[in-house]
Amino acid sequence: MEATIEKDAEQLRLTLPLMSRHGTDFGPRSYALWFGYAAGASPALRDALDPVVASGGRLTPERTVELYERHIAQESERALEQLRAALAIILGRLGEATGHAGAATASFAEELATVTQRLQHPDTPAAPELLADLATHASLTTATLSRFGSQLAEGSAAVDQLRRELASVREAALTDALTNLANRRAFDERFEAAVSAFHGGPEGQLAPALILIDIDHFKRINDTAGHVFGDRVLRAVADTLKANLKGRDLVARYGGEEFAVLLERTRPADVLTLAESLRQAVSAIRIRRSGDVVAEVRISCGVGTLQRDEAPIALIDRVDAALYQAKRTGRNRVAVAARPATTAA
Ligand code: GH3
Ligand code: MG
Ligand code: MG
Repeated sequence: MEATIEKDAEQLRLTLPLMSRHGTDFGPRSYALWFGYAAGASPALRDALDPVVASGGRLTPERTVELYERHIAQESERALEQLRAALAIILGRLGEATGHAGAATASFAEELATVTQRLQHPDTPAAPELLADLATHASLTTATLSRFGSQLAEGSAAVDQLRRELASVREAALTDALTNLANRRAFDERFEAAVSAFHGGPEGQLAPALILIDIDHFKRINDTAGHVFGDRVLRAVADTLKANLKGRDLVARYGGEEFAVLLERTRPADVLTLAESLRQAVSAIRIRRSGDVVAEVRISCGVGTLQRDEAPIALIDRVDAALYQAKRTGRNRVAVAARPATTAA
């Protein structure tokens, strides 16, 4: 583990000069791309970037995005983790740089003391040479100090910026761009964590509960009012769901016109009531279209609560089946998931 972090730190140090020589920006994609190249991520990426490096050219922003999408995007989460670990090492190195600067100052001070002593001796023959030595050493020391000083400043500014960019990449990777809700990946992460915490937690702890929501006849809305209006409907539904949930509950865009709500601190008896109140809140939305045409939206929901030792996917399957049942029995309603076969007996 340590060795991997060391290696990543080394790669990150290789990355920065590559980026400044051949990149056009210091954005997160550029970091990720050149980091991947320095790490020898893939032969295809090497083939694409070797000529750029060999010719001393620069990548255009468009080409950066293109190569990033093709070679890095899928791997980006893992790369982010590596970068994060590498940052810790870089910070350590910066600390060492401070130490070096300290050592340079100390050796100069020592020499200064020696020379001063010798100069005070009455028959010192070559005072001019001694002074010249001293001057050389002094300017070397000053250069060392200012080099380390600026390295330190540049280093910590770069690390700060990298940190901010990593945070924003991470944020973007977990947010749905259309609705600003958490996306499917964010939901899966939180849901799995909640399930593990429950299974590993004490008896009597509230079990995570799930509401899956699907807009009724959404295709019709798109077909009659257009895709752009469909997008407005999706945003309105997202806003309404969010407004009707507490901050600690997670609402995510789970798919095209599907949403998922994770409740970690709601009693099973209240889950159904909550889903019903969401359904009503959405059905009260009025979205103005052209002129006086006003669109109404309806949703169907499935709800269920995790059972002891139940796997996350098993709960999703049960709640999805309940949602399907809500659709089949007329839509615009909430259906409760059947208990799993193993615990029903
Ligand atoms: P049901 O009541 O059975 O759920 O019917 P439905 O029409 O809602 O379901 P269906 O799965 O047939 O259609 C879902 C539609 O959602 C089809 C797809 O074009 C649309 N859709 C998915 N994502 C988006 C999006 O981001 N924007 C828009 N405007 N439409 C989307
Ligand atoms: Mg659907
Ligand atoms: Mg639908």
